[in-house]
Amino acid sequence: MTLLVDDYIAARADVKAYLDSALLDAMNASSRESELYDEVKNKLLASGARLIAHYYVDPDIQRLAEETGGIVSDSLEMARFGAEDPASKLIVAGVSFMGETAKILSPEKRVFMPTLEATCSLDIGCPDQAFQQFCDSHPDRTVVVYANTSAAVKARADWVVTSSIAVDIVDALAARGESLIWAPDRYLGRYIQKQTGADMLLWDSACVVHEEFRLHDLDALMAIHPDAGLLVHPESPDEMIERADAVGSTTQLIEAAARLPHSSFIVATDRGIFYKMQQQVPDKLLLEAPTRGAGGTCQSCAHCPWMAMNRLSGINRILDFWDPACEILIDAELGRQALKPLTRMLEFKLTGTV
Ligand code: SF4
Repeated sequence: MTLLVDDYIAARADVKAYLDSALLDAMNASSRESELYDEVKNKLLASGARLIAHYYVDPDIQRLAEETGGIVSDSLEMARFGAEDPASKLIVAGVSFMGETAKILSPEKRVFMPTLEATCSLDIGCPDQAFQQFCDSHPDRTVVVYANTSAAVKARADWVVTSSIAVDIVDALAARGESLIWAPDRYLGRYIQKQTGADMLLWDSACVVHEEFRLHDLDALMAIHPDAGLLVHPESPDEMIERADAVGSTTQLIEAAARLPHSSFIVATDRGIFYKMQQQVPDKLLLEAPTRGAGGTCQSCAHCPWMAMNRLSGINRILDFWDPACEILIDAELGRQALKPLTRMLEFKLTGTV
């Protein structure tokens, strides 16, 4: 069963308006940004702060994290690293829910992001009030939400999961006989449902990047590269998932590129992943999976517009004066509520049991 809500439709319109304006400018990163690299690196090393970067951000920022003792990873590992690293200041390069998660897990630390405007269509598509009403109308169901949600939505949940651990946790909950609410990504929800057979009521939201991957155009690309393997993130449409040689989180796709025998891959996720994936498979050819692209209505074209808002200049500004406008602040009680389902996920990662 799928839920359609007016709020979600309105949010999608907001997303499009947002993308049509300021965000497209942010995607055209200036070449001057790279010139800041050494300056930012020296300041970061001197500051004692730790940079935590997602696979989808600019390669310069990923390299900066690698070269300064930080991490480049998926959202689960970002959360774990941020909680365990002793640095008292964290700079999170990603989107807002990642910075919020770091703050919830480590309320005593100061957490900054290059811009607090970097959000996520899944977060926007799951407004907390509407979601709470939905949960309240199904009180017997266990509430499982994707990490790509606001702190308020997490606070209403029993479990938070990332794409790398979602199937395992839902499988364990289903084995206990629990019926679930899942939010917000409907493609990922359907994928988990098929993998586990769980009874799941799905919220209806989607990632603006992954839902643009097209089977028709994929066929044309595969005609040119018939031996290429297909790597697909489970936020993508069902027909892409069904054709994939490997389906998984960003980390799992990088591992699959190294494990599978193919010498080339078509990759259906944000092209930011190519930086780390190519490190793992330097001799393999990596190709972007097609979207509707230029001339179509695609606004993302395999690169998240919000991830693209993370710039070296933003990190430089944080390091210059720890700009309060870039600091993540979360109400203490809300943070305590959201911490419970996040802690369950991290404990499951260690123990494998729910
Ligand atoms: S790629 Fe999709 S799911 Fe990830 S942050 Fe961007 S909009 Fe959200």
